[in-house]
Amino acid sequence: MPAEPRYVAWFEPEHHIVEYVSGFFRRRFGGMRWSILTPDRCAHWEGEGPWKARGDGADTAFEGQVWFTAGVDREAAPQDDAFEDAWRLYYRSIFNPARLKVRAMLSEMPQKYWRNLPEARVIPSLVQAAHHRAAGMQAIVKPADQLRCGPRPSAPGEVAARRLAQAPAGTLEQLGLQAAGCRRCPLWEPATQTVWGEGPVDARIMLVGEQPGDQEDLAGRPFVGPAGRLLDRALAQAGLDRRLLYLTNAVKHFKFKSRGKRRIHDKPLDAEILACVPWLEEEIARVAPVLIVCLGATAARAQLGRAVRINEERGRIFDGTPPRLLTFHPSYLLRLTDPAAAADAFAKLVADLRLAARVGLASHSTGTAATASMEGTR
Ligand code: SF4
Repeated sequence: MPAEPRYVAWFEPEHHIVEYVSGFFRRRFGGMRWSILTPDRCAHWEGEGPWKARGDGADTAFEGQVWFTAGVDREAAPQDDAFEDAWRLYYRSIFNPARLKVRAMLSEMPQKYWRNLPEARVIPSLVQAAHHRAAGMQAIVKPADQLRCGPRPSAPGEVAARRLAQAPAGTLEQLGLQAAGCRRCPLWEPATQTVWGEGPVDARIMLVGEQPGDQEDLAGRPFVGPAGRLLDRALAQAGLDRRLLYLTNAVKHFKFKSRGKRRIHDKPLDAEILACVPWLEEEIARVAPVLIVCLGATAARAQLGRAVRINEERGRIFDGTPPRLLTFHPSYLLRLTDPAAAADAFAKLVADLRLAARVGLASHSTGTAATASMEGTR
């Protein structure tokens, strides 16, 4: 039976690494017989499977082990290798002149190693001709070759611009699309998207929160995260149908601090709240609700134009067009660690929403709303 061929490589490492790296080659090319020849030391592997011991004395090979001999000169390695021509041919055929990056090529394989690479002989000519070959390739590309799966998809900016142009003028939809490109304050940049309000344009009650949270930022919808679910429970207990309400936020972009992979809510600054007020005012003008429920201090700040202590002022309706009712933000309840305090706050939130239902759904006049405030539920 003919002996298995032996593959021989010549290399000139700068350091004494042959023994150190031999395990890699044994694992990588375990099924072949090979020798790595260097001027300092040579490594040999006889393949897996039974074979007879080779060598002599310290250079004796043992089955399952790479064995080593003294270093040799370049001439000891095969000089004419038919495989090298085949390899150069293959290298020429896979070389893509349009993707040539000489600097990256040199950093991955510094030129000092080229003298031992069979393909190094053809690299200079390939690099030299790359520009002309790439230009030639470009010249023969037909439009149909560029994309075979239909017209090029529009960039997100183009889609938004088209939708904005098509949106009926002066509508909530058009405003929301305009807000999607808002850059009035720095909050737009790290956020995923503008979270515009949602709900019927003729809703009688508008709920205003602080800002979108992590999940709202990703979904592009208000009150869909944990605070939104708590709000849903409170609305249900207060007898309010969320589908009939308009829900929005005082600040339309998610403000956060990054902690590792987590995005932690960060309170908006006064300047950011004020920068966003015009959007909220536009929503209020289009929806024209009978009552606005401010959920938390940021919404109250945006609506009353002053700092507010929710614990002291919640459950009251403030005169205006339309009147404003202050209550807790549901995320405040989520932060309460004492179960009794959380239950008490939830009961107050439900009571405030019941008041909102009475005022918002039963009355159209500020006067009646003000009367309701006197019946408050504090
Ligand atoms: S937070 Fe409001 S004002 Fe600031 S960029 Fe977003 S939409 Fe514009």
